[in-house]
Amino acid sequence: MTSLNDIAVTPEDAKLITQFHTELMADKMELCGRCQQRWFNMELQKDDNGVEVCQACRRRDMPSKRNQPGQPPLPYFYSAANKLDFGEVPPQLAQLGELTPVEEMLIARVHVHVQVLTVRGAQYKYRGHVVHFLRDVGKVYSQLPCLARDLEIIILRPSNTADHQHLQRQFRRQFVVRRKVVTAWLIFLRQHHPGYRDVEVDQAALEALPEYGDLMDQLPIHEVDEAPVDPNDPVENVDFEDQEVAAVPNMVVNDRELDLLRDQLAGEVQIHDPMEAQLPRQAQPAAEAPLAQAHLVMPEIHSTPLSEFNRSQALLSLTFPSLYPEGKGEFVMPRQRSIDYDVYLRHAMRWRDGRFARHPRFRFVAFNTLMRRQISVRSTFFCKRHEQLNPEPLDINALKDAFRNETPEGRRLLESIVRWTGSIRGTRAYWGVKLQELLAMAYALKCSSAFITFSAADNHWHSLHRHMPRYQEWLAADELHRMRISVANLRDNPHISAFHFHRRQQLFVKLLLGGKFNLVEHWDRLEWQGRGSPHSHGLYWFLGAHLPDMSSEESRETFAKFWGIHVHALNPETNRQMPVGEANPLRAIPGLEDEPTFLLLSMVIYSLITIVAQANSNITDTQPGTAPPLQ
Ligand SMILES: [Zn+2]
Repeated sequence: MTSLNDIAVTPEDAKLITQFHTELMADKMELCGRCQQRWFNMELQKDDNGVEVCQACRRRDMPSKRNQPGQPPLPYFYSAANKLDFGEVPPQLAQLGELTPVEEMLIARVHVHVQVLTVRGAQYKYRGHVVHFLRDVGKVYSQLPCLARDLEIIILRPSNTADHQHLQRQFRRQFVVRRKVVTAWLIFLRQHHPGYRDVEVDQAALEALPEYGDLMDQLPIHEVDEAPVDPNDPVENVDFEDQEVAAVPNMVVNDRELDLLRDQLAGEVQIHDPMEAQLPRQAQPAAEAPLAQAHLVMPEIHSTPLSEFNRSQALLSLTFPSLYPEGKGEFVMPRQRSIDYDVYLRHAMRWRDGRFARHPRFRFVAFNTLMRRQISVRSTFFCKRHEQLNPEPLDINALKDAFRNETPEGRRLLESIVRWTGSIRGTRAYWGVKLQELLAMAYALKCSSAFITFSAADNHWHSLHRHMPRYQEWLAADELHRMRISVANLRDNPHISAFHFHRRQQLFVKLLLGGKFNLVEHWDRLEWQGRGSPHSHGLYWFLGAHLPDMSSEESRETFAKFWGIHVHALNPETNRQMPVGEANPLRAIPGLEDEPTFLLLSMVIYSLITIVAQANSNITDTQPGTAPPLQ
């Protein structure tokens, strides 16, 4: 006779599950006293001064890397002396609270994207949708604050918005402006940020800002079709901060641009070349031409694409002044020990106070400039390689010939261009190369595979939320409040959530799929959906598993026998009633997830049945609250 407190899996499986949770719970976020990064499993050790230093710093700062003959040693790599200390947000500004997105845009000297915001109705649970279109060339201001009408934001709003609070309140918070806060930041930046020294403060524009109010109604608003609103939805249950955010990167090389290149070389159309662009002297009002290349005021950079800009000008600290209040640690600063751009961005994302990781737009601009850099580095390399292999230099006429005449050499040249773009992460060509790899694996591996999707129950994992801010409050909260904290934490800490998902999947694959099913190989791809929540699709090959051959009774039986022992249907308590005060086990319950008992199984089945029963309540006579027996 089994009791509900018994473990519902075999002792071998229970051991694997325990090992999984033990390793996951051993993850620890730590702070390195030298690089000031807060990250996982840093392997801290005390240095000679008693400072806890991470393994990466110890490696970077080995004597052989710092000592130079006859000269004083070089500074530590991640140090203020090497211009890699971002500093604090000064207390007088920090106490005003973080800048709202629109407050920062009003005082940013460089604007690099156009935003389109869509207000949405009940079928999207009133979850607004934001797309950032990253531009090739930034817009630079020397007079601040900007005017609301110059901000490149477009709002798509359903025509019935005026009748419904659910629609009116979306996005309001990010357009809140506090005149006092904007003024304090501008004054501070002018005094302390080298890139703001010559900025002219426009007093009239400052005074026109609301003391406390939102600017939404001053932005270009386009009315779209009515959105459905359920009159029974209580407004107080809607999380107006919950949004889906996406970005459209701007890259030199994509399929469309390759086509354009082909057309241009064939002499058919003239395309705009950003490297040689002569930009109009006057900025276009945002409402008229929101996607047009915009005007730059600073003469020395007025037609410089961002990838170039970021090599010579302080792009990041001028676009995100709230992250660089004193301009400290800007990427383009000259430093004794140089840093690669990807390493620099990782350093920022792990910075001790989490301000870079938390910022709603920094990550998109960082990723876009990183991609563009890779493209420019690799295409230079491509041309050099090509010249080594071919005595004829790669000139425009050779390219024109290649496109015009379908000769074998021409095709080879085109293929090699596509191959090179294929090494740049995130491009379509890159995924084309990955697809070929996957196909090759599928043909070469002679064992059975399973298609597995991992998705993040990241609102619920105790193992994740113990790394998040407000953990003690999270532990003590009731279910509804705990969910609210979870949602806010995930929105503000995508770096922590992404790392934890990666670890969970890695451990699951290694310990459970490897330990139980003889995993020999796998291929997977991570995707991010709304509010940064990851999931992963992949193929997993198991040694000794039978191929799904359905052609004969015998082969079907072999297949069913092998997998059948892992599939079991059971409902431990068919007449379960949910005790008063019992929380839903599919929500986060601290500590419960690592005990695979029959009781937990029963609670999970009960919750699933209740959810299904509620969803079907108008077509079946199932009473919510009683669990129908499972087959
Ligand atoms: Zn360190």
